[in-house]
Amino acid sequence: MIPYGRQEITEADIAAVLQVLRSDYLTQGPRVPEFETAIAAHCGAEHAVAVNSATSALHIACQALGVGHGHRVWTSPITFVASANCALYCGASVDFVDIDPRTYNMSIEALETKLRLAQAQNRLPAVVIPVHFAGQPCDMKSIRSLAEIYGFKIIEDASHAVGARYVTGELVGGCQYSDITVFSFHPVKIITTAEGGMALTNNLTLASVMARLRSHGITRDQAQMRGASEGPWYYQQIELGWNYRMTELQAALGHSQLQRLEKMIKKRHELARRYEDQLDDLPIDLPWQYPGVYSAYHLFVILIKLEEIQKSRLQIFEELLQEGIGVNVHYIPVYSQPYYSTMGFNPQDYPVSNSYYQRAISIPMYSSLTANSQSQVISALKKVLKV
Ligand SMILES: *Cc1c(COP(=O)(O)O)cnc(C)c1O
Repeated sequence: MIPYGRQEITEADIAAVLQVLRSDYLTQGPRVPEFETAIAAHCGAEHAVAVNSATSALHIACQALGVGHGHRVWTSPITFVASANCALYCGASVDFVDIDPRTYNMSIEALETKLRLAQAQNRLPAVVIPVHFAGQPCDMKSIRSLAEIYGFKIIEDASHAVGARYVTGELVGGCQYSDITVFSFHPVKIITTAEGGMALTNNLTLASVMARLRSHGITRDQAQMRGASEGPWYYQQIELGWNYRMTELQAALGHSQLQRLEKMIKKRHELARRYEDQLDDLPIDLPWQYPGVYSAYHLFVILIKLEEIQKSRLQIFEELLQEGIGVNVHYIPVYSQPYYSTMGFNPQDYPVSNSYYQRAISIPMYSSLTANSQSQVISALKKVLKV
């Protein structure tokens, strides 16, 4: 089975991890700060806080921004559940903004309309979490302008978009338009630490709060303590945090992978170009790119033109599996998850997301996908989607 996504591990990656195993520190050593500094420098952010997953990063990001009971957090429904769950962890409520029919990112028009209505009803969000779907950056300039008008904070869920660039050419992660940006290093994402994530920010206070929250709310910094230190052993827990720390092994792997980031994205672009060339006569919509953006191509999602083919999405999906192609669907709209169904969402409020979900299939896209395997994917698609 050719999977839809997988990691790329080199001998250099393995050597980096082995070196940590032979060193003094498996956790809380020098590798994590080195990795943080390297990612921050790469993206042009001032601070980076490494954690054990993007889910944890989203949680401490919301917490650091003061999200709590009575607050509202808005995100896209076409995302992994973690983009919404982070608000619930903090006791806030979640709402969704429908997607753009071309980019599948949060629709700016839908966001603006919803904000206008929310303002009239005194229900404005405290935080909006745009998701750079499939690695294509959202229109952050517009979201930022709306944030200034309506007074919300922004967390970019850039789990798919490590190495992507906005239309301005700036790398995602620099936080020019947001308070905090979150990366995921899960094995199917762009670079991996097995499990792992990172929160980037240009705000020193947010960075120091997030660093504390990832480690129980504990500080060893005298400036943050109440009263004087009692000695070299001394630390204080000054708020409730978690153990969300990244290990030295993970940081070493991530740092080693970061050296190849640009190469890996270039490879994903080559694969995307080949799919575009070879699949353009099939009854599908190929991923549309906003002119000037540089996607990280975490995913390659095709939308079946159901009116042009006498097969259902399910049938097409199953036939592709039978051909050995490990297709997937990204994503089931979060509002339709059973856990969310009691929160009163009306699927009819999200017509674009619903139609997207009926038609979407993710086909294999990862930097270690070989030309031979890609040819197999292309042949299988031509066979199954023949009209
Ligand atoms: C993968 C993913 C996450 C969660 O990442 P983890 O590192 O697995 O916690 C969050 N948001 C989006 C959009 C993702 O794709």
